[in-house]
Amino acid sequence: MKIAVCVKEVPEAGSGRRIDPATKRLDRSGERAINAYDLNAVEEALRLKDADGGGEVVLISMGQDKALESVRKALAMGADRAVLISDEAAAGSDLVATSKVLAAAIKREEADLVLFGQAAEDSDGAVLWSAIAERLQLPVVSQVSELEVAGGSITAKRQTEFGYDTITSPLPAVLAVSDALNEPRYPSLKGIMSAKKKPQDVNSLADLGVDASDAGESGSRTKVLDLSPPPSRGDTLVLEDEGGSSAEQLMAFLVERKFV
Ligand SMILES: Cc1cc2nc3c(=O)[nH]c(=O)nc-3n(C[C@H](O)[C@H](O)[C@H](O)COP(=O)(O)OP(=O)(O)OC[C@H]3O[C@@H](n4cnc5c(N)ncnc54)[C@H](O)[C@@H]3O)c2cc1C
Repeated sequence: MKIAVCVKEVPEAGSGRRIDPATKRLDRSGERAINAYDLNAVEEALRLKDADGGGEVVLISMGQDKALESVRKALAMGADRAVLISDEAAAGSDLVATSKVLAAAIKREEADLVLFGQAAEDSDGAVLWSAIAERLQLPVVSQVSELEVAGGSITAKRQTEFGYDTITSPLPAVLAVSDALNEPRYPSLKGIMSAKKKPQDVNSLADLGVDASDAGESGSRTKVLDLSPPPSRGDTLVLEDEGGSSAEQLMAFLVERKFV
């Protein structure tokens, strides 16, 4: 079974978020890492490959050329190869343009199963997989918290606000997995050493047959008009732990407001 897993490089959690005022886009120049939710998709792909006794796990990413540094973590976990779509003309791609480019890369792979994480930590849209499934005219199941693949179809338990749906679908299919599905493995030292040597192809839009006008700002249907910081959450009390007194201060604060 061939499994394609979409993975995204995002600004490292805790590194803070800064919008570049000139482009009104997220500043991606700082520390970066692979999107943590995507590791659940990689883990599931590796387990399915093992259970199947063969096949291939291909990582697909769109981003800056240095994104391969982050993608290598998934290669170190055990994925077989990576395809990065990196092109100046793709900068500024919104959901519509991103889905067009990634759909072209996924289509070329002709995978049996396409896996996504539940959301990207930076933009947090949780919608890209639907757009790609629509473009590829494939069935899509999101929030997959249990998965079985057998006889050319999948059975997925889907987490909802009110309980669970059980959905079956023929392959090929697009699945967005929940972080409740599994516990991603840590890369072994051997895996880290071998990751650099695994095939890592960097493709341009032309390599995929995508017209530059369908990507970047020209291919986007969203325009950021203005940005403003989130409204203040009101008064904040900061307790300084001078002489180990913060616990007493906190208790006095709670008692005063009759919380305890
Ligand atoms: C006007 C505008 C300009 C933008 N410019 C840029 C830009 O210059 N550079 C940039 O990086 N982003 C840019 N973005 C953000 C970009 O459009 C989104 O990251 C993209 O549409 C995916 O949405 P999301 O991040 O909310 O992903 P979600 O829908 O939350 O992601 C779900 C899953 O999709 C997969 N996924 C998401 N993005 C990628 C990717 N790039 N490659 C592989 N898998 C992926 C992951 O598995 C992820 O878990 C821009 C957005 C707007 C609105």
